[in-house]
Amino acid sequence: MDFDYFIEDLRRGGAFLAFNVSLLVREELRSLEPYEVMTYPGVIKLDANENPYELPPAIVEEIFQQVKRQDFNRYPDSLAGQLREKLSFYSGIPVDGTMAGNGADELILTIFLTFGSGGKVIITSPTFSMYRIHSLIAGSKPVEVPRQANFRVDLEAVIRKAEDPDVRVIVICSPNNPTGNTTSLLDIAEVLKRTHALVVVDEAYGEFTKESCISLINEYPNLVVLRTFSKAFSLAGLRIGYLLAQPPTVKELLKVKQPFNLNTFSQYAATMVLDHPAEFKGTIATIIKSRETLFANLNNLQGVQAFPSEANFITFSTSLPAKEVFNSLLKKGILVRNVTTMGLPECLRVTVGRPEENQLFLKALKDILRLE
Ligand SMILES: *Cc1c(COP(=O)(O)O)cnc(C)c1O
Repeated sequence: MDFDYFIEDLRRGGAFLAFNVSLLVREELRSLEPYEVMTYPGVIKLDANENPYELPPAIVEEIFQQVKRQDFNRYPDSLAGQLREKLSFYSGIPVDGTMAGNGADELILTIFLTFGSGGKVIITSPTFSMYRIHSLIAGSKPVEVPRQANFRVDLEAVIRKAEDPDVRVIVICSPNNPTGNTTSLLDIAEVLKRTHALVVVDEAYGEFTKESCISLINEYPNLVVLRTFSKAFSLAGLRIGYLLAQPPTVKELLKVKQPFNLNTFSQYAATMVLDHPAEFKGTIATIIKSRETLFANLNNLQGVQAFPSEANFITFSTSLPAKEVFNSLLKKGILVRNVTTMGLPECLRVTVGRPEENQLFLKALKDILRLE
């Protein structure tokens, strides 16, 4: 507290009024905790669904060559023109139906700020935690529609809830983080047909599964497909996401987006990666194969139940409390994610790593569960 301010307050004859910053904050924000992720140097990192394989060295070299020619004193291209052209080519959606963001996370916030503020957003829980957080930040009310016992989206419940004219956005994550299952195109189309809300399909893990809703965009003006370079494309550290929709939707979103949201370096890196999509086919196929092996091995362990996944992670429960298994794995140098707070009591989520990492994880888990 500033002394002069204190004296001034006394002089005004008032009782001393303590400054309380939390009174300046909207009520919805008071209950939020900062999103902090602990770092554990030197562990086998299987907690954040990153790609365990680094970018091919030839692509890294090409990125550095390109970036070297850039003027860092200049602002980046605010519309990420070159990247959006590549995105258009890669996805088959016209350039003005594409938009790039500082990670898919930023785009989630931009979508809610544009369409959700003052209204409601439907979330199919258990699902990715940022939908709820960004909805609150954007001043929209998150409305949770629980998934069914097998984690399938409850279509009828979603459609019924969305009859409320305050519902502006419905978010469906497919494959869903953290449950791993997909929602079929048929089911997504059913929701699209029967609602006036915007339907956002988060395909952050789309490259690890077969179907994509991108093929539905031409037909449905209320569809937005969200994607990222963080998972299949090994660029989590550079924060690049994108969305695909019909041009009128993108036009609204561009009004709200920060003008220079995506830095020069990241724009080049993503552009370069899209020049070489074939280079990633091999590692993506390896991850899918490793996922199937890991799934079978997990379910072979006594007391372990793993849920089928079409992403690059597997969620599972064991005979012991999740917290205990998490801590024991960490002591053995393996970091996974406790997804209890994501609405899956006593469950852990493990990212599919390199085969040798998956082996070490399985061995550590067997030790902890005293199997063999
Ligand atoms: C990882 C993840 C994202 C965030 O992707 P970024 O591009 O790294 O921000 C978005 N949605 C889901 C479901 C995710 O799991």
